[in-house]
Amino acid sequence: ALEAAQKILELIQEKGIEMVDFRIVDVPGRQHHITVPACEVDVDQLVRGIAFDGSSIQGFRGIEESDMVMRPVLTSAYVDPFMEAPTLGLNCTVYEPNGTRYERDPRYIAEKAEQYLAATGIADKAFFGPELEFFLFDDVRFDSSANGAFYAVDSEEAVWNTGKGDGPNLAYKVKNKSGYFPLPPTDTQQDIRTAMVKELMAAGIRVERHHHEVATAGQAEINFRFDTLTKTADHTMLYKYIVRNVARRYGKVATFMPKPIFGDNGSGMHVHQSLFKGDTPIFYEEGGYGNLSETALYYIGGILKHAPAVLAFSNPSTNSYKRLVPGYEAPVNLVFSKGNRSAAIRVPVAAVTPKSCRIEFRTPDGTSNPYLAFAAMLMAGIDGIRNRIDPREHGFGPVDKNIYELDAAEKALIQSVPGSFEESLQALEADHEFLLEGGVFTPDFIRAWIDLKRSSEIAPVNVRPHPYEFHLYLDL
Ligand code: GLU
Ligand code: MG
Ligand code: MG
Repeated sequence: ALEAAQKILELIQEKGIEMVDFRIVDVPGRQHHITVPACEVDVDQLVRGIAFDGSSIQGFRGIEESDMVMRPVLTSAYVDPFMEAPTLGLNCTVYEPNGTRYERDPRYIAEKAEQYLAATGIADKAFFGPELEFFLFDDVRFDSSANGAFYAVDSEEAVWNTGKGDGPNLAYKVKNKSGYFPLPPTDTQQDIRTAMVKELMAAGIRVERHHHEVATAGQAEINFRFDTLTKTADHTMLYKYIVRNVARRYGKVATFMPKPIFGDNGSGMHVHQSLFKGDTPIFYEEGGYGNLSETALYYIGGILKHAPAVLAFSNPSTNSYKRLVPGYEAPVNLVFSKGNRSAAIRVPVAAVTPKSCRIEFRTPDGTSNPYLAFAAMLMAGIDGIRNRIDPREHGFGPVDKNIYELDAAEKALIQSVPGSFEESLQALEADHEFLLEGGVFTPDFIRAWIDLKRSSEIAPVNVRPHPYEFHLYLDL
């Protein structure tokens, strides 16, 4: 640690860093920061961390015992391109004042999930590759007062009939749900996405590709390379930070909300997953369904069996369930399939090698805290492997026909994803033993998560009149 801290100080000298930014992730998945002038930073501080008040952080502890410590992960340093003064960003983990790790730190839960996987002997590495979609809006208005009853968004790419501001309308708009993927001038976001990609690469993230997405109102996707669980969650946080800030640089608003616009595609965070033992990909077996091994099938079985509870972490917002409806390429069926995009798990088959053999869980979205969502998926998959849960024996497919064309009897056998966030939280209440294995999630954390989400999100949404209620009831 001393050596790594020394390296950070060298980096500060070398890059002319003036400010060092210490960052943590709260329970819902927002980052928070404290900035220290670089001249005040020394080895001792980098190793021991800095104090902060945990009582103001959502999901952390109460007023009576609020002193906490954030300690930097010394390999996480990157030069932040969005601040005027040259600034070094450092991701931190959270500690109790007495030096033990804090049980509700999401990053700690992610690390424990990786350690648990290794301890089971099933595999020593779990690879995660999330695909985050997002919208870029020109203008977003919503009533953020306590009443909160309207919102409106505006997207240059979707407006056919009016000029923007005083300018002319140059047409070349995205036709209904046809954003995937015409060239400019229809694609107006090429340069913004490229700017995002360049910042991501400068921050050390390996970007594989970027493209416009299907939605009419300016939707994008940038893909970065898979990596191990906690590292990928770190990359996910950095990705969202960079996307938001480059959007702001261009006068746009980026959002990862799963369903900002009714009638248009939503934004998902599909998560590709595979397990490796040493250099051996244990999800691959030539000749199996989609060239999947038995282990991979059991992993799928675990995720699908526990899916309603897993969704409490992978789809943790009231808005999440507005995306999980038929007709928008978002999954609705708890089945696996080689091609079907309405299946919760897709098995990619195009251009797949033994090393890239993987499963794609399609329900998650960008409102999840990636540390918790990835950990919950891995725990469900491990449970499937340990208990040999064969998805084919539990009515989870494979389904390779168009699900909409199945007859009523076939359809009746297929389970759907939960219809609301409350349903998912109830599923988590009833089914969370698999998350407690190896002490990865704690009962206290599960309780705190459910209570936090109910009291600060579900209940406040429920008591507010919805704009559509005016349409329905104004004249009744
Ligand atoms: N936007 C779709 C979703 O909500 C996914 C489109 C795709 O397959 O990339 O999951
Ligand atoms: Mg996509
Ligand atoms: Mg995908």
